[in-house]
Amino acid sequence: MNSSAFAIIGLICLFFIAESPAQIPFNLLTTPEKTNYDSTSSSDEVIQFLKAAASYSDKIHVDTLFTTAQGNTALYAILSKNGITTVQQAVQEDWPVVYLQGNIHAGEVEGKEALMQLIRDIIMGSKAYLLDHQIVLIAPNYNPDGNDKLSEMHRRSQEHCPHRVGTRRSGGDYDLNRDGVKTEAVETRGLFSNIILKWDPMLVVDMHTTNGTWHANHLTYAPSYHSAGHPATTEYTKNIFLPTVQKMMWQKHQLHTDSYGNYSLRDGWPPQKYYTYNHHPRYLVNQFGLRNRMAILSETFAHDKFYQRIQSAYNFALEILEFSNQNAQTIQSVNRGASAATIELIEKNAGIMQRGLRFEMMPDTLPFSLRTYDYIQYKDSLSKLNYLRLPTIIEIEDLPYYSLFKPTKLATVPLGYCIPAHLESIVQQLKRLGIVVQELKSDTLLQGEKFIIESIDVAENAFEHHNMIQLEGKFRPSRLNARQGDYLVDMRQNLAFLIFYLLEPQSDDGLTRWNFMDKYLHKAGVLHHKVDYPVFKFW
Ligand SMILES: [Zn+2]
Repeated sequence: MNSSAFAIIGLICLFFIAESPAQIPFNLLTTPEKTNYDSTSSSDEVIQFLKAAASYSDKIHVDTLFTTAQGNTALYAILSKNGITTVQQAVQEDWPVVYLQGNIHAGEVEGKEALMQLIRDIIMGSKAYLLDHQIVLIAPNYNPDGNDKLSEMHRRSQEHCPHRVGTRRSGGDYDLNRDGVKTEAVETRGLFSNIILKWDPMLVVDMHTTNGTWHANHLTYAPSYHSAGHPATTEYTKNIFLPTVQKMMWQKHQLHTDSYGNYSLRDGWPPQKYYTYNHHPRYLVNQFGLRNRMAILSETFAHDKFYQRIQSAYNFALEILEFSNQNAQTIQSVNRGASAATIELIEKNAGIMQRGLRFEMMPDTLPFSLRTYDYIQYKDSLSKLNYLRLPTIIEIEDLPYYSLFKPTKLATVPLGYCIPAHLESIVQQLKRLGIVVQELKSDTLLQGEKFIIESIDVAENAFEHHNMIQLEGKFRPSRLNARQGDYLVDMRQNLAFLIFYLLEPQSDDGLTRWNFMDKYLHKAGVLHHKVDYPVFKFW
């Protein structure tokens, strides 16, 4: 690199990193900053950055998140004002923890770059106060295998820089944001064992970049959609947390942000509806609602220029941390209140209360106004109707925003589930997600309901290597002589609604759906006659 290149970098840094210290050590510049926003960081460069950061400050400690099948290691930073290095220290002093991750879809690199800049500004710049009331965990590069499979062919509809980005899928060929229930990927297992179950973050932030709709916001966001669980954490995130962050993004940074969604030009112009993604806990952010914790999906606008996308992601993460730092005690108490209320609900209403396990998307009752690029219609040379995007930005008022989830199938929430001893793989999966399961020490008579499977639908096409299952049938009052060695899942625990969603036979994102019961069901002859669902629910 010649001296004029250094001068350019200097100018860029002064312009975009106004909050940073006057002199940034060269090894704490990110790859986009060093390349005039032409390239994104490799996995090795992320590791070198985190190690360099740790050598400059005792506010940061670096630990291993996981090592992939392809031998790539992902690190995460533990940022704290006291130089905490272990979870024991955090627990001892009851420090609230926030976890942010970037690059789960490794073509969507903006979170990765923004989070590294944020680490630098927390440990060396003016942002140290963000650690006054919280511990911040940051994993900039959650999909290191995908990150390094660089090609010009990926994300071609996006504004062209960085020219080469990695793949959406992981090295093990998983979409890591569809793996929250089955947790097959080494990355997901590392996330659960080293972050979620270990640190129990009060807030999780998952950073993406959009796939195409030309709305005109710099960034869109969503809370956890988890309609089966306790509503308190989502209500707080949706009604208090995110609106405050949205206001700050405009007032402090002049950035437009709004709720995540898409419209389709196939439905005509102007759009008649704007819709979010769905509610399944396979999406990491959605699962946290069922875990009584807060979570935020961040989606940088794919059609902004690269430096703008990074800046939007940076400021969004910054404003989230501003809010969580100022409101750490409130967030903790909303989460803990939801945990306590969940257990109380089970104690009082098990066997009576019903919850949804299949849903349809409905418009929100609140009015929604969409900021978007405008289009005009024209007929092409074959007289086919087509749309031309204009450079003008318009507001579409009172657009139905499909972001509520109405149950289309309900089931009774029990006091517990009994899993036969031979289904140990189910027990292992529950434990991986942090659910407490006990082994029966003696034979016990249980009163409740069994589910009789009357039909099974197996999806023709594989999704994430699975031909998904849907069961239909009926519950019937019944008794079960549970045997010593069988497993009991007592619902009087924080994860009760997640347990419900995983173990109910008709759940649209439970363990049955992801083939965990296949071996048993086929052995029992489910294709030929009625079969009892092996998990019994009792009250
Ligand atoms: Zn994504």
